[in-house]
Amino acid sequence: MTELKPTLLSVNNIEVIYDHVILVLKGVSLKVPEGSIVSLLGANGAGKSTVIKSISTLLASERGIVTKGTINFKDKRIDNLTPNALIKQYGLIHVMEGRHCFSQLTVEENLLTGAYTRTAQEAKDGLEMVYERFPRLKTRRSSKAGYTSGGEQQMVAIGRALMAQPKVILLDEPSMGLAPLLVEEIFETVNTLNKNDGVSFLIAEQNTNVALKYSDYAYIMENGRVMMEGLAADLREDEQVKDMYLGQSGGERKSFRDTKHYRRRKSW
Ligand code: ATP
Repeated sequence: MTELKPTLLSVNNIEVIYDHVILVLKGVSLKVPEGSIVSLLGANGAGKSTVIKSISTLLASERGIVTKGTINFKDKRIDNLTPNALIKQYGLIHVMEGRHCFSQLTVEENLLTGAYTRTAQEAKDGLEMVYERFPRLKTRRSSKAGYTSGGEQQMVAIGRALMAQPKVILLDEPSMGLAPLLVEEIFETVNTLNKNDGVSFLIAEQNTNVALKYSDYAYIMENGRVMMEGLAADLREDEQVKDMYLGQSGGERKSFRDTKHYRRRKSW
């Protein structure tokens, strides 16, 4: 059960400021238990990517800084480590929004760039594992990544992260710009990586429907704050979430601020 799993990654009451003045995150806390899929949901600009970048420390490259709070991997503080140290010491890796690939390199060359911390044999085994999980990439292994479809490029981006044998993947907006069937395919693979290979995921996603279908737990953000959290199965049935995020009310999407009361539920 999710409740009994130990916490792998925790974000504790962080505040983030961009360009010294723009306060973007206000007291955000979340947990990723070992072996779970946790989603960070919310509309465009809610602050999901900023949370992910705070953990992976890529925030600094965008003139952002965590001014309050802490980020832990188990009981160790990991704020201010380099991305290299995060993957080497903790197996934590960030797959960025926009499925960045080296367009002039082949699919296989792209994957191999993810194995820079591994030995030659580990890289070979890693390729086999990635091709098993993403059979499409095996058939496209010699194609230049720039000529592959958006879905295949997203698979390359995740596959490249897998080459480092991660324990936790921070996955930013994997569904962006992809057709519904491909989105399902990507999430099915995420599910397999989680259930078969024990990889934990924190996924920032605007597609609430698909994210709640595949997640164990979710946090819903609005204006830089977590407005609601709970087991994904519960949130899927929650009237407020259905109304605001699952497009089941037929009306215009509201915000938590428009509703009189909102609940923050903790289930672990
Ligand atoms: P999206 O799905 O569009 O990526 P998001 O929920 O991930 O949205 P963020 O990208 O984290 O949201 O953005 C949160 C807020 O921070 C937005 O108001 C955005 O304009 C602002 N922001 C993001 N990056 C920067 C930056 N580098 N400099 C200044 N403001 C930024």
